[in-house]
Amino acid sequence: MKITEIELYHVHIPLKHTFWPTWIPGYPQTHNRFTLIRLVTDDGIEGWSAGTAMGEERQGLGDLLGGYIIGADPTDIDRIQSLLKQAGYLGWLNPWIEPACWDIMGKAQGKPVYELLGGEARAIEAYCSFGELHEPARRVEEILSLMARGFKTFKLRAKAKTFAEDVQLIEEVRKGVGDGPTLGVDANQGWLVSIVDRIPAWDLNRAGDYARACADNGIEWLEEPLDWHDYDGLAALKKASPVKISGAELNHGWDEIKVMLEKDCFHVYQPDATFAGGIAQVRQVIDACHRHDREYSPHTWTNGIGFYINWNLVLADRGNTHPLEYPLEEPSWVPEFRDGLIAPILPDKNAMLWPFTRPGLGFEIDRKMLKKYARRFYRQTTRGLAFKVIREKGLKAALEIKKRKEG
Ligand SMILES: [Mg+2]
Repeated sequence: MKITEIELYHVHIPLKHTFWPTWIPGYPQTHNRFTLIRLVTDDGIEGWSAGTAMGEERQGLGDLLGGYIIGADPTDIDRIQSLLKQAGYLGWLNPWIEPACWDIMGKAQGKPVYELLGGEARAIEAYCSFGELHEPARRVEEILSLMARGFKTFKLRAKAKTFAEDVQLIEEVRKGVGDGPTLGVDANQGWLVSIVDRIPAWDLNRAGDYARACADNGIEWLEEPLDWHDYDGLAALKKASPVKISGAELNHGWDEIKVMLEKDCFHVYQPDATFAGGIAQVRQVIDACHRHDREYSPHTWTNGIGFYINWNLVLADRGNTHPLEYPLEEPSWVPEFRDGLIAPILPDKNAMLWPFTRPGLGFEIDRKMLKKYARRFYRQTTRGLAFKVIREKGLKAALEIKKRKEG
């Protein structure tokens, strides 16, 4: 099988209400933005994937990628991984493209990707992952109303200027919601963005004190308490912490995460396949977590397509009983805009996500929505690439390159 066509799109889905992500303090997010890729094979099979974006920063990506990907076999994942790595030499990492090849493989075999990976269909509990910092009293109300809709597990964000305010949040929320719900806290210190507000970074002392406050308030896990590359700090924190420490949502795949496992940075590893080297590398992380007796529960906060990609990996990990991160912050970050180009992903009245059985990654692109929210900025085909090479290198060189590639 060969990839014969690539399309890249900028997607901008306007939110009805502005979203204020804690991971970019002070920044009003008005759109759900991502880059969408569509690969087509010589058999006419389509593979899709998406990579979260700030804007249209990937405008020039097609020019770089076309020559690497056109003609490649999408079922040869080692080769695809290697090509994406080669194309990333300028520092432009695009692991989010690899899942499109799994989408093709699943469709070619008539199976969902999680089955290709050895998993089976099962219902999974969704945990409600908030994305904003709300006053404790408001957060309590929100949790109580979501509990009435079936949610049992929630993740708060801690991103106040002072330690005291961060502690006050978990104290008041725990007091307000009672012992019933399971609570986690995400400090989002891994990727500390200061383009608007400058919130001071946590150091090991503050993280350690906060982990103890988490234990005092029945918090199950503390997420990303230090910089994503502070392996030694994270390992020291994990050793001393009375609650589970989690992270690695942004780390670049196996090469980084294997070091984190060796240093024992976390109780729970949360690689997102759209950042962490694609499905194949997260698969390696899951296997390593089994060997090291560590847990796996992926980050999913990008968009609906990214959610499906990570959902496949959880379904592939038989016996994984972790609830799955379900991004939700009403009224701004809600299924209609979060999932955008695909049918909204909705848990049932007990917050269970029922498995999909559609071949491939499991979602279907809504062509009407694609037309409405996406703008194609790159298209390349086998023929188009051949003409480009002839134009740039001359006919003789183009024929020679073709011969060598095929030989
Ligand atoms: Mg997180």
